Amino acid sequence: MRTLGLLGGMTWHSTVDYYRLVNEGVYARLGGAHSASLLLLSVDFAPVEDLQRQGDWVGLGRRMGEWARTLEAAGAQGLVICTNTMHRLAEDVARVVSIPLLHIADATAVEARRLGMGRLGLLGTRYTMEQDFYRGRLERDHGLEVIIPEEPDRTRVHEVIYGELVHGEVKESSRRAYVAVIEALKARGAEGVVLGCTEIPLLVRAQDSPLPLLDTTALHAAAAVEFLLAG
Ligand code: GLU
Repeated sequence: MRTLGLLGGMTWHSTVDYYRLVNEGVYARLGGAHSASLLLLSVDFAPVEDLQRQGDWVGLGRRMGEWARTLEAAGAQGLVICTNTMHRLAEDVARVVSIPLLHIADATAVEARRLGMGRLGLLGTRYTMEQDFYRGRLERDHGLEVIIPEEPDRTRVHEVIYGELVHGEVKESSRRAYVAVIEALKARGAEGVVLGCTEIPLLVRAQDSPLPLLDTTALHAAAAVEFLLAG
C-alpha cells in the first residue's frame, strides 16, 4: 500500500470523517486487519481563518507549502488537502512538492459526470462559491456548468459555515435554511448540488435534500482510497 499525507484540521470536524472514511474504504477492499497507511498533519484552524478573512492568500500559500513539504519529507507519496476552500492554494502546494496532489474538485467532477449531471449548484464558503479556483476547475477542466446561490442566500451559507459548522455546531434552523437554498438552485435548473465545504455533510444529509448531493468529503476520501491501493 502507498502512504498518503492528509493536510487536515480545516476543520478537525471533517478531518475525523476523512480519517474514518479512508480507513473504512481500505478495509472494505482488503479486509482482514488492513487499515490505511496515512500521515496526518492537523493544523490549528484559528490563524488560518484569520488570514482568510484578511485576504492574505500569499501568507496562507506559504504555510500550506511548508505543511505539504513536511508531509512529503515524512514519507507521503501523495497529498490530500482536507478542505475545499484551501484548494485556493492547490497550485502553490503542487509547486513545492514532487508528489501528486489529489484535487477535491476533480474527485467531485468525476462523480457528477458518472451520474450524468451537467448543471450543478455549488454550496461552500464565499471564497469557494465566488472565486474562480473551484468553479473554474469544474467548468473548464470538466465541462460542467456551475451555479451558486443568489444573495442573501450566499451570505447565509457562508455564515453558517464559519459561525456554526467549523465549531461543530449543527442546528436544525440552519439545515432548513440550506434545504431552502437547494430548492432555489433546483428551480434554476441544477441537477445536483456540490456540498463544496467538507463540514456541510454534517448538516445536510441525502434524506433532507431535494437534489442529489455530491459530498466532497466522501468523494475525496474515496479518491484517496484508490490512490492508496493503486500501483
Ligand atoms: N472545510 C471547509 C471547506 O471545505 C471550510 C474551512 C476552510 O476554510 O478551510 O471549505
